[in-house]
Amino acid sequence: MSTIEIKKVTKRFGDFTAVKDADLSVGPGEVVCLLGPSGCGKTTTLRMIAGLERATSGDVIIAGQRMNDLSPQKRDIAMVFQFYALYPALSVGQNIAMPLHYEKLSKDETDKRVMNVARIMHLTDVLDRMPGQISEGEKQRLAVARAIVRDPNCFLFDEPLSRLDVELRHSMRGQIKEVLTGLSKATVIVTHDQLEALTMANRIAIMRDGLIEQVGTPHEVFAKPANVFVASFIGTPQMNLVEADLKSFGNGKAAVRLAGNDIEIAADPAVSRLKPSKVTVGIRPRAFTAASEKSGDTIAAQAELIEPMGAETLIHARTSAGGEIRVVIPREMKVKIGEAMHLRPDPKQTHFFGEDGKAVRA
Ligand code: ATP
Repeated sequence: MSTIEIKKVTKRFGDFTAVKDADLSVGPGEVVCLLGPSGCGKTTTLRMIAGLERATSGDVIIAGQRMNDLSPQKRDIAMVFQFYALYPALSVGQNIAMPLHYEKLSKDETDKRVMNVARIMHLTDVLDRMPGQISEGEKQRLAVARAIVRDPNCFLFDEPLSRLDVELRHSMRGQIKEVLTGLSKATVIVTHDQLEALTMANRIAIMRDGLIEQVGTPHEVFAKPANVFVASFIGTPQMNLVEADLKSFGNGKAAVRLAGNDIEIAADPAVSRLKPSKVTVGIRPRAFTAASEKSGDTIAAQAELIEPMGAETLIHARTSAGGEIRVVIPREMKVKIGEAMHLRPDPKQTHFFGEDGKAVRA
């Protein structure tokens, strides 16, 4: 069965630990994206799965078999890199057929497989052209076609769309996802683009400094970030993360001093464990409503910068404590620079993080 599992995998380069105790399992037909900032260890993790890098400790298990000591060829994985590595002197059709070379298939069988993959990847019309004569999008599809023409144990993609322009990326995301959905293979995709991860992945593993910080569905990592790092990394505009004093908790409400305001907000009962202490309160820019006047659950702020974003407007507002709060409002709602705002956070979309940075939930 097509599965990928890494157990407590660590990679050290001399004294430097690039990946630490990484655990991840990818089921048949599942697409998992490794997402994180530059240098967090995504590519190193992928290379250890591929066998291009040896794990310092831990286990790499593919299709139920421990692979630590096997060469990349023996792991029977199909990889697509950021740089397509196409054969420039071979036609598109011959490029697709290349990985079948060692399978010693009949010409008929080879042609049949090439045609089938060319059809799936919309390359039928350019089969006789050379790589220099096709577009970037077609080159990308050719790279994927070469990977899926065999029947490998699983697929690994390293920043597969980073060379494409924004529009092409958008359409390729959907196309690759559709193709992968039909193949029932375990797939790992490395990306630093959260939109790519949110749209292509069944689950996302978010990495920082060599550690996997959270693994969850796109919805889970967005709606229930495990810690301040994930909260700040996922979602645009970025979640507001405001340091606050949690004073008390009663009747399901937390009383907090936040951005110069004393407010009461309904919160998860687990938050009562923290009182009294410093907390970080996370509120996404789209999780506010603008109230007409001050009340016990609003934050006072003054509009400082207004950025139209098409259907919505992003407002950078200054609180009386001096911090900035980002708020997204519908385009129809007019706010002027300098205008006083009373921002009411939606309690269901307000996150509490303890002093250790971890989310507090029941
Ligand atoms: P990016 O998005 O920039 O590609 P990444 O998350 O894929 O980053 P890695 O390429 O996995 O990051 O690198 C993780 C860390 O390990 C980085 O600090 C990198 O400099 C370091 N590193 C990677 N390969 C080596 C090596 N061969 N020797 C020493 N350090 C390395």
